[in-house]
Amino acid sequence: MKDAKLILKTHPTHQTVVQVGDRVAIGGSDIVVIGGPCAVESLAQMEQVAQVLAITAVAALRGGVYKPRTSPYSFQGMGVDGLRVLAAVRQQYGLPVVTEVMSVAQLEPVCAYADMLQIGSRNMQNFELLKALGQVPQPILLKRGLAATLEEFVMAAEYILAHGNPNVVLCERGIRSFDPYTRNVLDLGAVVALKQLTHLPVIVDPSHAAGKRELVPDLARAAIACGADGLIIECHPVPAESVSDARQALSLEDMVALTESLRAIAIAVGRSLPMPQAPAPLVLV
Ligand code: PEP
Ligand code: MN
Repeated sequence: MKDAKLILKTHPTHQTVVQVGDRVAIGGSDIVVIGGPCAVESLAQMEQVAQVLAITAVAALRGGVYKPRTSPYSFQGMGVDGLRVLAAVRQQYGLPVVTEVMSVAQLEPVCAYADMLQIGSRNMQNFELLKALGQVPQPILLKRGLAATLEEFVMAAEYILAHGNPNVVLCERGIRSFDPYTRNVLDLGAVVALKQLTHLPVIVDPSHAAGKRELVPDLARAAIACGADGLIIECHPVPAESVSDARQALSLEDMVALTESLRAIAIAVGRSLPMPQAPAPLVLV
């Protein structure tokens, strides 16, 4: 980290709080939970997700419209139509939306719709993209590369700050190892180290780390217990029918239960979880 100038903590209480939309702040006292499907599949699907999550402590919605798929024959995402779906559910349910951008060319459409831009693991060291992110108004969710050292991760974030955008959230999402039982190995040591080294918020993605839905809730709780500022978790109205990452998707019911189970842990580590929003009152005519 010897070259890092902008992202290192200069004193123990040095902490950046990243604002997402008008109402969500990552890195403050509230634990921020981002939930939604791996990929935006239709307006109906996103409405089903948003309708359930909007009345919980979940603070923001996720959903990929440009998907980095291993196979060129797999579903590549809905593209601009998917961005319009995200904008429609944001408008209807009041939750900010997070979505992945894979290239400089995708920045213009994504910036026109999204509240936060996700940079996926496969692009953590796409340096031209990192430089361009310095110039966008939205906050950035930077995921750790598939096999990136902490120094590489920190320096990738440094690129974005050095090019003018101070609003970066780091995301630990598991790293490659030898055992295929879990998709990746969730590196909670990295979360603790990043919180000590940098002033940026750090969130955890237990879904891509575990690759199996039954491992997600306990890993999510462990992440909050060790100091993460939030979580990004995949869930789907019919998990088995997810067009991507079906095996790791939680049902919406499990997502709600997991989110609420974080409250006691948040309090135990001196944090808070927003109170669930009351459902809109029924208007009888
Ligand atoms: C995703 O969030 O769906 C995704 C592709 O994540 P990652 O870049 O961490 O693999
Ligand atoms: Mn995914």
